[in-house]
Amino acid sequence: MTEPDPTLRPDPMPEDRDRALRPQMLGDFIGQAEARANLRVFIESARSRGEAMDHTLFHGPPGLGKTTLAQIMARELGVGFRMTSGPVLAKAGDLAAILTNLESRDVLFIDEIHRLNPAVEEVLYPAMEDYELDLVIGEGPAARTVRIELQPFTLVGATTRLGLLTTPLRDRFGIPTRLNFYTIPELETIVANNATKLGVRMEGDGALEIARRSRGTPRIAGRLLRRVVDFAIVEGGGVVTRALADSSLTRLGVDSLGLDGADRRYLTLMAENYSGGPVGIETLAAALSESRDALEEVVEPYLLQQGLIQRTPRGRMLAQKAWAHLGLPMPKAPGQGDLFGK
Ligand code: ADP
Repeated sequence: MTEPDPTLRPDPMPEDRDRALRPQMLGDFIGQAEARANLRVFIESARSRGEAMDHTLFHGPPGLGKTTLAQIMARELGVGFRMTSGPVLAKAGDLAAILTNLESRDVLFIDEIHRLNPAVEEVLYPAMEDYELDLVIGEGPAARTVRIELQPFTLVGATTRLGLLTTPLRDRFGIPTRLNFYTIPELETIVANNATKLGVRMEGDGALEIARRSRGTPRIAGRLLRRVVDFAIVEGGGVVTRALADSSLTRLGVDSLGLDGADRRYLTLMAENYSGGPVGIETLAAALSESRDALEEVVEPYLLQQGLIQRTPRGRMLAQKAWAHLGLPMPKAPGQGDLFGK
């Protein structure tokens, strides 16, 4: 089985850390209009009160701008920014060390917050609620708890799996914010802006073609743009046209809906081996040699959003649009044969 092309996965890759392309202020951030409008109000209010902004939780698929928005919040608030992630904080002491080093009103960003160790999460509750840390010193009968006062701070959590967050943690975020897939016009603007920043000439509908095939995700748009620019430099005289974008993306295995090899394998498996479903997620994961998490966090959200698959209580099902996209005839609905055929 071929590995999915990493260019098409929304997980971060080293070359994404191009700071020049990251929007720096709320005004440069394209899309997510509702989230942006609300954040503007909460930032402004916290600034005028001179207090730490309320704890904020960003949830949504990878690559939609959760980290970027957290950095923008710190910049707009004029405070420091510290970044860590759930799996990195192994012990309560790791979190305590970070919390006690925060300055007043700083933003602490915890990525993948659904993967926090429960012992670390316990420490976070009083820290979020009362800016206090209860640390246990010593062991056995000599153990005692010391309470440490913290500077007021803003915790910004990010998660791709809201459902995996414990209720007590979720309830402690005053501002839960869902990020959605971007529209094609929004992605077109992002691609065009990035092309300008990279000093690349775009002609015709070059930006639109890349936008259409970016899976609704700015991180993928940025990555596809770079690959198309490579083709433009070597084969297109340095200019990105619609035709050049189309042929480069097709050569990279990105189809007209932005689906990559892994997406097509998922859809084809359901069509050819399970007559379009319903199929349980565990069965699909085993057949594709992918983890269930990867399917649920990375592959399925876009397929669901595009109306290519449906989630039902009995498992996943292919929607009509997927049959059309695969160029396969849709079988008769399973129930119908039983009702009328006998
Ligand atoms: P997440 O934390 O949700 O996985 P990031 O904030 O790391 O996503 O964003 C991924 C990439 O996409 C970054 O390179 C960022 O610059 C870019 N990006 C995200 N949102 C936008 C946006 N609204 N406009 C322009 N670029 C964006």
